[in-house]
Amino acid sequence: MDFKKVQQLFPSEDGNKQQQLELLGYIEQLLSGIDSKKDPNKSTLGPIQEKSDNLYKEIVENAATPNSGINMEEIVNKLIALSDGHPYHTRNFVTNVLPMASIPGIIGLLTTSILNGNNLWDVYGPAAAEAEVKVISMMSKLVGYDYTKSWGYTTWGGQGAVFSGLRLAIAKQFPNAKEEGVPNNLYCFASENAHYSLLKSVEATGIGSNHLIRVKAGSDFAMDITDLQEKMEAVIQKGGIPIYVVATTGTTDSFGIDDVKSIKEITTELEKKHQLKPIHIHADSALGGFYSLFANYDFTNNPLNFEKDVLEGLMQINERMQYISIADSLCFDFQKLGQTPYLTSLFLVKNGESLGLLDLEEFETPYVGNRGYGSYHTGYTLECSRMGSSIAIYAALLAFGVEGYQQILANYVRVNIAFRKMLKERIPNMGITNEKNIGPITTFRIYQDTVQWDLEQSGQATTEQINLTNELNYELFEILGQQREDVFFGDTKKQCLVDVSDSDERLPIYVSKLFSISPYTEVEHLDHMITAIEKSIMKMEGMKVEVTL
Ligand SMILES: *Cc1c(COP(=O)(O)O)cnc(C)c1O
Repeated sequence: MDFKKVQQLFPSEDGNKQQQLELLGYIEQLLSGIDSKKDPNKSTLGPIQEKSDNLYKEIVENAATPNSGINMEEIVNKLIALSDGHPYHTRNFVTNVLPMASIPGIIGLLTTSILNGNNLWDVYGPAAAEAEVKVISMMSKLVGYDYTKSWGYTTWGGQGAVFSGLRLAIAKQFPNAKEEGVPNNLYCFASENAHYSLLKSVEATGIGSNHLIRVKAGSDFAMDITDLQEKMEAVIQKGGIPIYVVATTGTTDSFGIDDVKSIKEITTELEKKHQLKPIHIHADSALGGFYSLFANYDFTNNPLNFEKDVLEGLMQINERMQYISIADSLCFDFQKLGQTPYLTSLFLVKNGESLGLLDLEEFETPYVGNRGYGSYHTGYTLECSRMGSSIAIYAALLAFGVEGYQQILANYVRVNIAFRKMLKERIPNMGITNEKNIGPITTFRIYQDTVQWDLEQSGQATTEQINLTNELNYELFEILGQQREDVFFGDTKKQCLVDVSDSDERLPIYVSKLFSISPYTEVEHLDHMITAIEKSIMKMEGMKVEVTL
């Protein structure tokens, strides 16, 4: 390959039409290739690819970089081949919070790639810097932060936001910890239903996972506030220092919403009582935060004409979600309910000044920042180079607007209300285990004869009963999983832990899951989904009969 040919692998230098058409040609080839595999009645692009046990071993053995590059058309074909059997977010895709990237999101990310600025410094990435400041302000205003004080940045997922919140929590109480290391008596608190992001963060910061205190959750899967208070008191009595409470506002499995307002009341009371420094509260709103866009919805006049039950569901969510702005920091995972591609997570801090505690000294960053030109240098992020993911967020916010998001979020609620109703009618021995929480998720659990969820949740079932029902549900997962090309349900082996009547050990609960996430899933598609569950149950029972014979 000669050097001229290598140059042709880049977009043009001068904007000539020929190279523009060439790039467009590959994009068209890619889109047509992927589109040709789409089928709205399947949840995958073409048939699922059976994976042999040594698939990855074979790949490792056979993969090699060509000595001389191959042509682009062939490469695009290889990329299209990668999508064979790929999950795709059609109406039947209800497995988990794995959304479809919207057109504005994709175009935004393409802009990021074409400009390829570095979001580390506005001299290198002015587009991303501007977009980032815009989306910080836009989201601060929507969520109820004072935009003249708040600040933030795009980061590596909801996980990155939980981690950044913890860095702030440490720095606020121990500004010298950066140099001296963290004291060995710091404690963090989160619900037992919280995402494992905090576990990894306490490990990585050196606080240690023994210092992560898990707070019990109630029947609505939200943190039990009394248990939080007692556990915080106990830590303080033993000489521990509480620094960080993560309030999950929308749990990943059950859509439980922790009560940020009550949590703040407790931390404030404890700070006064024990003369503690401010305890940082992070609302882990990675998933649920978008529902705070209903905070300003006119529920009385209902301008978007939501049906009565949908409106009631949204009001119920808003009841809790409207308080997330009480938290010191929060997160919007745009790659979840914000309809943009990975990775587009926004970390927001109520008092932006506190980020200064994490910033590097000028002396440590000789290449960037602190010049006469350029005034936006993100020395406070854990990342050095940063992708300009704010551009996709910016495009999506403009395209959907508040109402567009409200429509899509309301439809998830609509689908879930209808699904629960139909499921109960058609499969009487199927229990809904997150009945109290309406949102994008329904968790359901099959029983041998009759639904025993109340009994199990109140700790009156025996170990044997729970284990048998878990096994039954595991069998259902397997069969539902085999037909995922048709309807792709989710499942979890620990929706929550419950007490049992005959042991001190708390047991996990296995459930299947419908996570309404595709913009194309509507109420009319639910009949087919319930039929798929019925068929799976029949198959499961058929297999049992065979075994007994
Ligand atoms: C998804 C999720 C996370 C992790 O977010 P990533 O973007 O995957 O890093 C953290 N917390 C909650 C509540 C989540 O739903």
